[in-house]
Amino acid sequence: MGETLEALHRLQAVELQIAEIRSQRDIKFRRVEVQRRRLQQANERIEELTAAVRRKQVAMDALSLEVSSREASVVKHREALNNAKTNKEYSTILAAMNTEKADTGKIESQVLERMEEIQSINKEIAQVEEEKKAYTEALAETEEKLAAFDKRNNKETTRLTAERKVCESGIAPTTLLSFNRVAAHHEGEAMAVVGKVHPKRDDYVCTGCNLKISLEIVNILQSRDEIQLCKCCGRILFVESSVAKSS
Ligand SMILES: [Zn+2]
Repeated sequence: MGETLEALHRLQAVELQIAEIRSQRDIKFRRVEVQRRRLQQANERIEELTAAVRRKQVAMDALSLEVSSREASVVKHREALNNAKTNKEYSTILAAMNTEKADTGKIESQVLERMEEIQSINKEIAQVEEEKKAYTEALAETEEKLAAFDKRNNKETTRLTAERKVCESGIAPTTLLSFNRVAAHHEGEAMAVVGKVHPKRDDYVCTGCNLKISLEIVNILQSRDEIQLCKCCGRILFVESSVAKSS
């Protein structure tokens, strides 16, 4: 193995450890995000429902006011009824009063309807509040776990990052760029060993993706300090000393 590949190999070892910590952290971070989203949705729902209650309350208040004014009008009609001079006047007032009463009844039932709607929305608000409580607790718990994870791994991450810098120092910028690009793509796994398909035959594959690797590439890898990328997965190929050609 050439010098460059050896340096990349050391870098790969550090990178994989960093990637492992990162992937564990990502899982914990995603859990926090899920709870945060749920909590936000619950808050939005409560806001929506509270606004609906307010709107229905305003409508109900207006209807209640109308009921009161109509009731006052019925009282006036009743007084007029008592003072009616003729039968005709009496029956006219009675008819008007009955209409007023019937209308009032209709509006009263509308008030009751609004009241029931408000009650049912308030019930839903109480339900969402319960859910919100659970999400808040779950969020605190996931955040705590993430913070504990960071606390546990901070030192190690700092150490690995420093070590990565040291490993990078001997590698050409363009090679490093290739490495970083592939590493980002394959969760830190920027390199793939060339595997032998059959112990007695010179058939080789990239163990990262199983693409066939030509004997020519294997020869280059064994004789020159040159990097070769797998044409399929882009990983930097290398051969282990055990993968010796059979010929
Ligand atoms: Zn490959």
